[in-house]
Amino acid sequence: MKENSVFANIYENIRRDTGRKNESSKLIVVIRLLILSMAVYSLVNCVLIALSAHISGLVFSIISLVLFIAAFVCSYYWSSFTSYCALNIYVLIWTVANVVCFGWNIGVQHFIITLLVFCYFSKYRHEKAKIIYTLALLALRIYLYYYCQTHEPTLALAPDLSNMMQIVNTFFVFLSLALTAYIFSADSQELEGKLIEYNRQLMKQANTDTLTGLYNRRSTMEYLDSLLKNPENQISICLCDIDFFKRVNDTYGHDVGDVVLKKISSTFQKELPPDSFISRWGGEEFLLIFPKLNGDDAMIALDNLRQRIKAIVFDGGSETFTVSLTYGLVEYDYHSDMTTILKEADEKLYIGKESGRDRIIF
Ligand code: GH3
Ligand code: MG
Ligand code: MG
Repeated sequence: MKENSVFANIYENIRRDTGRKNESSKLIVVIRLLILSMAVYSLVNCVLIALSAHISGLVFSIISLVLFIAAFVCSYYWSSFTSYCALNIYVLIWTVANVVCFGWNIGVQHFIITLLVFCYFSKYRHEKAKIIYTLALLALRIYLYYYCQTHEPTLALAPDLSNMMQIVNTFFVFLSLALTAYIFSADSQELEGKLIEYNRQLMKQANTDTLTGLYNRRSTMEYLDSLLKNPENQISICLCDIDFFKRVNDTYGHDVGDVVLKKISSTFQKELPPDSFISRWGGEEFLLIFPKLNGDDAMIALDNLRQRIKAIVFDGGSETFTVSLTYGLVEYDYHSDMTTILKEADEKLYIGKESGRDRIIF
């Protein structure tokens, strides 16, 4: 528990922003983490070099360590941009000094790649400056390589120590690259996730009716249009309408009417086959599409539905009541267009209403 709070404290401190306006805390977090990893790296180097009793190498590593600690402290006083520039300048000088002192074999030149990645991830949008910086880093790396071909290291290390430092360097280069990429990409991935979810919700809002949660007329037309263009099975379509719904509103109030609409909608979803497309066509009218049922099978499903709905007892305050619907069912004949088929369903619904309601006309 205590250990947890120590880590939480360190993390909070690393995240503490610079207190300046218009500065993202992400950049300063990456800067601090990079400086910290470089400080740890210098500390490891100090130990390794001390174990090999290489005095001048040790002095060099201690100076590096102290300067990284100083840079870490400064990051709390400077703006992100100043810290960013300072880190770049310091790492460049430090890399050059390392290569000159210890040679190419310790692999410290790979930190130049970290700076390159850092530069492209940073929020600063100076594209030209980034390209110039890239070329400068490239030139520096090539120059350092040729420099090492023609110059012996000033503080040559024993081969074993040099190899060990190469491994340590590789580890810290990977660490700093991973840290930079992780922190900068985490946000964009999160943002992308939020956008996808937001889009999904917008799409849902555009396609559904808010009261009942059923598909709305617009999305139903789209669905029906595409379904009739590529019919794979027999398709049945039913237009249905609540009987005497105006009376429900007039007797029990509009709110009770809304409850009835919602309950009927959820009963559709519960009772109809899973691949049915259920929509609120308007007011108290619903369009039900059965993409895999012929007329006879749809008739069976609808008759079950009709009875289930009639069995629901609604609370009207002073009394209870039930409702029924009238259904106009058509089977798609593979020839008609959408308008014709909807008109046919509407005519059947009308016949149902005229002949006494609470029935399915097929
Ligand atoms: P019929 O059996 O011939 O269909 O009679 P009806 O009373 O159901 O038909 P009418 O078209 O006369 O009335 C439909 C009513 O539906 C009128 C309207 O106020 C009501 N209505 C439409 N949309 C809503 C809604 O979202 N909520 C509520 N509570 N009522 C609605
Ligand atoms: Mg009605
Ligand atoms: Mg109506």
